[in-house]
Formats: sequence, C-alpha cells, structure tokens
Amino acid sequence: MSEYSIDTKLVHAGERRQTPTGKSVSTPIYPSTTYTYDSMAEMDKVFSGEGGDYVYSRYGNPTVNALEEAVAEIESGKFAVAFASGMAAIHAALFACELAPDSVVLASQDLYGASFDLLKKIFGSYGVKTKTADFNDLKNLQAQVEELKPRVLLAETISNPLLKICDIEAVAGIAHSNGAKLVVDNTFASPFLCQPVRFGADFSVHSATKYLSGHADATGGIVISNDEFDKPTLDGIKKLVGGVLSVWEAHQILRGIKTLGLRQEKQCRNAAVLAEHLSKNEFIEKVYYPNLDDKKSADKVLKDDFGGALVSIKLKTDTTDAAWKFMDSLKLCVRATSLGDVYTLVSHSASSSHRELSPKKRASLGIADSLVRISVGIEDVKDLIADIEQALKNG
Ligand code: PLP
Repeated sequence: MSEYSIDTKLVHAGERRQTPTGKSVSTPIYPSTTYTYDSMAEMDKVFSGEGGDYVYSRYGNPTVNALEEAVAEIESGKFAVAFASGMAAIHAALFACELAPDSVVLASQDLYGASFDLLKKIFGSYGVKTKTADFNDLKNLQAQVEELKPRVLLAETISNPLLKICDIEAVAGIAHSNGAKLVVDNTFASPFLCQPVRFGADFSVHSATKYLSGHADATGGIVISNDEFDKPTLDGIKKLVGGVLSVWEAHQILRGIKTLGLRQEKQCRNAAVLAEHLSKNEFIEKVYYPNLDDKKSADKVLKDDFGGALVSIKLKTDTTDAAWKFMDSLKLCVRATSLGDVYTLVSHSASSSHRELSPKKRASLGIADSLVRISVGIEDVKDLIADIEQALKNG
C-alpha cells in the first residue's frame, strides 16, 4: 500500500484476510488459543516453521498479525510486533538492541517516568547504565554521545509534559555516526503525525493504549523496525517473556486505527485553537504547544502544519493547590492520567507522571507545580474553551 497516503492506509492496512467464507472486509477475532492438524506429520511441519501456519496463541494469532501488518504499513516499517502494553514494547525494543552489562543507554531527560524506571530497575539490575541528556540541545548531545559511547539512544517524538519536539533525523545521525541505535517512543505523535523510521530511527514504539486505540478501552503496545534482522529477536521476546497482546485488544486497536486520521485531525485542530485561546488567558502564565514554542521543529517532524493534540499550561499561581482547584472545577474535561482518547483528558504532571521525582529535579526539568497537561479530544472546541475558562475562574 506504499503508494497511498496515510489516511487511506489507516483505513485499509492489514485487512482483507482470507477466511473459510472468503476475504473478510474487517479482520475477524480468532480467540482459539491452539490449532489442530489432520496428522502429526502435518503438525510437525507447522512446528518446524515449514508450514507457516498457527500453532499456539503466544506464538502468533491471525487478529494480532493483522494489527502488526497494519502498523508496519502505516509507520513505513519492515515489520511490527505487538505486545501487551506500551511498557512491554519498550522493554522488547531495548532488549533487541543487545544491551549487555556496562552498556550505556542515553535517554532523553524528558522521558516518560516508567521508561526511566524500566531502565534503572530492570535493565539496571543486569548492569546496564542509564544516563540522560537534553535531546533538544544537539551540540551537547553529540558531545555526550562521543564521550559515553552509548549502545542506545532513547527519545520521544513529543516530550511529556513540555511537548518539546525531537529532531529525529538529527538524533539518528548522531546515534549512527557513533555506532548507537535509536529507539523512539512515538506514542504522543502517533503514526498519523510522524513515522520515526522514515527519519532513520531503528525502532519506533507505541503505547497503543493511547492514540492508536483512541477510546480508553484497550491496552497494548507495538514495536516497529526497519530491519528484518530484528524480527526473530522481537518474536522470541514475545514468545519467551510472554507479554502477548490479547486478541480482543488487538481487535479494538485495529478498529481504532481506522479513525486515527479523522480523530487526530480534529484533535490537532482543537488543540491549536485551544492553545491560541489559552495563551491570552489572565490566569495562565505559559501555554506549551509545539506550534507556539518551536514551529520549525514541528514543521520538520510532524505531518503538514499540525502541532500535535496535547497542550500544557502553567498557571500564574504556581502551586499544586491552584492546579488541583482548577482541575476539580472542570465539568466536561476528564481528570485522568492517560492521553490520546476521544475524550479531553487532563492530568497534573507533578502528582502523576512525574510524582517520583523530587521537587528540585522537577524544577530543573521545567515542570512547574501548577503544570497541567491537556490531551485534547474530539469535542466541540467551544465547549472545551468554556469549560476550561470557567474552571480557571472558579478554581
Ligand atoms: N510511553 C509513553 C510516552 C506513555 O505516556 C506511556 C503511558 O502513559 C507508555 C509509554 C506506557 O504505555 P502503557 O501504559 O500502554 O504500558
């Protein structure tokens, strides 16, 4: 489907599978955990890999495979492997980079908190070292890569919660010229806005729980790679660590992908209007939005003139209390820790995604006590503005 635009791929990729009753328009759910064959000889062929058919759900499932094919197609990767969550996907991508004791992972300082914990608590217990850098300061990043000689660089397309854009092409260049791999968490952008492997990333990963699914009703993760050589490793992790995506979730996510383009266009348009509007609000100190803060990078990395569908705000009264009062006064926007859903969700970074960090560390990263992240949904933006304005006034 490479000749088609992303909107068309989102609708059709991974579909039209052969079933006993013909080619299905939408992929059926195959809940069977195991498969039988007419003879042991035939079964042996399948077990040896010669048959190319299904054996057992942890090894592979037709519905999950349809999702994997769809995501590989829309992210312009060679293949994709699905996992039970975004964290399982990040673990698999890092593992596939062949980390060994004393290997260094150089992570973006703005990384999602659980990814840091994964590096420190799980990979760290095997001797892998984690260092951090500001991935928006390319000169300094280059110097750190030359000094630390990391095995892997781990970045996010759009950072949380300050929504800084990573120049993936430049970071991939720095990584590769120093023998490192680049893993990009593309969750905040989604494949609609960015396809990291096209910019040179070795792996792109998603929490499919967010934009791909889009309705707050499925948990999943997926790794996209541009190198067939990685496939046996990623399949092996799926099979042996066992963090397989449930067939029901695969169906929900595959269904969600059909409307990703529609949803994200509306979400991004809403976010742009909201950001513009809130930047004039008397109770707000600063609005964080890629198209306001760093349009050049947004234009390079994100599709068309979209700036993403997340907006963060810092209140003039910079306290947790002020942020909570504002959030408690919201009537339409939903207080919840996730993002990327059709509903507008708001979260307070200091007490959720970044609560494990000391106040000093948060301050050094620019994460204010009053910072609230808004994952903009598909509602009428006028209703969102009215709700947020009344909450700022009454909070
Ligand atoms: N990556 C990012 C950027 C996230 O925000 C999250 C979850 O919030 C994850 C990964 C982990 O995804 P999951 O909750 O599906 O494991």
